[in-house]
Amino acid sequence: MKLNSQIIQNIRADFPILEEKIYGKPLIYFDNGATTQKPFCVLQKIEYAYKHLNANIHRGVHFLSQQATEAHEDARNVVAHFLGAEKREEVVFTRGTTEAINLIAFSFGEAFCSENDEIVISVMEHHSNIVPWQMLCERKKMKLRVIPMNEKGELQLDAFRRLLNENTKLVSVTHVSNVMGTVNPVDEIIRISHEMNVPVLIDGAQAVPHIPVNVRELDADFYVFSGHKIYGPTGIGVLYGKEKWLNALPPYQGGGEMIENVSFEKTTYNVLPFKFEAGTPDYIGSTALAEALRYVGDIGIEKIAAYEHELTTYAVEQLSAVEGIRFIGTATEKSAVISFLVGNIHPYDIGILLDKLGIAVRTGHHCAQPLIDSLEIPGTVRASFSFYNTKEEIDVFVAALKRVVAMLI
Ligand code: PMP
Repeated sequence: MKLNSQIIQNIRADFPILEEKIYGKPLIYFDNGATTQKPFCVLQKIEYAYKHLNANIHRGVHFLSQQATEAHEDARNVVAHFLGAEKREEVVFTRGTTEAINLIAFSFGEAFCSENDEIVISVMEHHSNIVPWQMLCERKKMKLRVIPMNEKGELQLDAFRRLLNENTKLVSVTHVSNVMGTVNPVDEIIRISHEMNVPVLIDGAQAVPHIPVNVRELDADFYVFSGHKIYGPTGIGVLYGKEKWLNALPPYQGGGEMIENVSFEKTTYNVLPFKFEAGTPDYIGSTALAEALRYVGDIGIEKIAAYEHELTTYAVEQLSAVEGIRFIGTATEKSAVISFLVGNIHPYDIGILLDKLGIAVRTGHHCAQPLIDSLEIPGTVRASFSFYNTKEEIDVFVAALKRVVAMLI
């Protein structure tokens, strides 16, 4: 059964923050691209884990340590299953998308890159999929190449093909744009790259909460995402990497857990995935993330995608009635993100006034400054939806926007 309004009301009751009043108005939370709210089951899991199974993992012989280890390693199974990974060892826990990309930029860079090599990214990347590669390029005197997009905000695959050459070492692109909601043809990008034997990293931060992802079907070499954007806690994220690649890469950080044997003369490293998990891992975070993934899985990611698509289409229709509105990003394949400008009004002013009406949207460059600069705009107003949002909330939002625009114009 598709997600009808009764099911959505039941889902909303799972999220305590949705009861909040902002300046006396019911919260309308349309900033899900930045972070998502947490259901009771995730909050309860965090409390339960600290109350009943808190002990440092892997090293302890005692009962609690074994319980905590089991929870952390079970979370790895849940993530592996969620992503369709072949092996649980291919799942590395990180602090988030940003750390996962930095890990690959460092380790892959150390192992496989040298002067004049090239990394390919796209014009619509988040800073976390730009800066780590720039740092690598600076360190190794390499070049960063950028896939352009068309006026709808879709990547130009012909231009992409032309960018690939014998110096290309890795392609790193976002699955879904956090600014425009464009769903990139990552399967095609991976296929084209593999024809040239170039591995591909996919930034899945904005994809996994909204659309089904299977890393094996995609044949992605690396796939990364953040727990907090998929109803899990902050501070935990995932790096999926094909076993052959992860085995070929040196560790990113040194410390406890990642070693097999340490002497002052020489250290040998642990097996996957522990080689990349130096220090005490966030086992409470991983346990709670697994709970969030179970929650999403129980609702059904296909149903979520269909409902959010309906919501986004409705929002575009309703917003189109706002005089002077200009949508930024009108790709055919779009996820639950709408970016727009109205006339010459600064996005910040719209955001501030909507906030006073209880509506949380994001304004600015959305950590994608090169994209915003290439569009020659000051930023956008961004509404990004979740399955707990409703058409009624969109109606309130559109009415509020009309009021705000009337005040500012
Ligand atoms: N990539 C994309 C596409 C994002 O939207 C974000 C978060 N806005 C990130 C990467 C960074 O995620 P985090 O800050 O959780 O590491």
